[in-house]
Amino acid sequence: MTRVPFSFELYPPRSSATDDALHETIRYLAAAGPDFLSVTYGAGGSTGGRSLEVLRHIRATTDVEPLAHLTCVGNTYIDAARLIREFLDAGILSFLALRGDPPANRPEGEPFLGDLESAAQLVQLIDRVQAERAPYEESPVPGVPGAVRVAPRRHVNIAVAAFPNGHPRSAYSSQHVEALLAKQAAGATFAITQLFFHADHYLAFVERARRAGVTIPILPGIMPITSPARLARVLELTGEELPGELQIALEIEPTAEGRRRIGVEWSARLAREVVDGGAPGVHLYAFNQHETVLDVLAEAEIIPALQYSKGTP
Ligand code: FAD
Repeated sequence: MTRVPFSFELYPPRSSATDDALHETIRYLAAAGPDFLSVTYGAGGSTGGRSLEVLRHIRATTDVEPLAHLTCVGNTYIDAARLIREFLDAGILSFLALRGDPPANRPEGEPFLGDLESAAQLVQLIDRVQAERAPYEESPVPGVPGAVRVAPRRHVNIAVAAFPNGHPRSAYSSQHVEALLAKQAAGATFAITQLFFHADHYLAFVERARRAGVTIPILPGIMPITSPARLARVLELTGEELPGELQIALEIEPTAEGRRRIGVEWSARLAREVVDGGAPGVHLYAFNQHETVLDVLAEAEIIPALQYSKGTP
């Protein structure tokens, strides 16, 4: 069976009181052999310092690549460059460059954005900052025999966000595809999508993006929804359309374990359908818990069913 790449997203806990639980989750997730573990930045009030702590922990205790989300809303160039250097100094070489969300009720175009106005500009800044310490390499100049170009070698991976159903702030329907093209032109090496509830939303988006000239891999982001409250919250945050069938199933199920199974089965089906449709892997939003996302992967037959046991990571 061909291995399907997979990865997980974590967030830094608000207080160190929950560190032990997160460390245990990281142990279990790492034992499953993901391609990377990503850690959100600034989302839900978390600070960059807490993100870096979690990334350092992943780096120190596992063999898994840590991937740092970074946002640029409100930052000056100097502050953003300082932050990038801090992450590079800690040995972090993979990033998800994001614009971040502006303060509530602020329209586009107001100066809340700081110096950097888009994720594409953050991609360029990460590239420039990493170049300060990159080794130089020579490459031939096409069409000029004997000439060589000397330039810093890119030694980081820079991912960006993509939105299969559009971004709530897009002014017109194709703007998020154009934004993705701009991020690719700025040097992004792959994209991770916002959550979605139906495989054809992702597959149709990839097709639209490819037709528009996007060539980088687009990794589908899958979020197991295990309660009506979580469903309501993510719809509010993302502006996604209500998946009626899932909502009804969660609402009529009386037990928490039953609702968890519904979320697992929905996500596993989604994972299988997007992989069968050509997705380059799956990225799971883990909510700092390992059981549910590992169950999704096992159910989708992406990892063996008995790969992890609850007793020993
Ligand atoms: P951009 O690509 O720069 O822009 C997003 C969209 O906004 C564009 O597609 C475009 O449609 C529209 N847009 C941009 N500029 C304009 C304009 N001038 N006028 C009108 N429309 C415009 N947030 C966090 O705070 N921390 C995180 O860790 C985090 N992780 C995320 C991980 C993933 C996989 C995803 C999908 C999102 C994440 N977010 C996170 C949320 C993200 O910051 C928001 O969605 C943000 O609003 C847009 O960021 P972006 O990088 O897509 O921005």
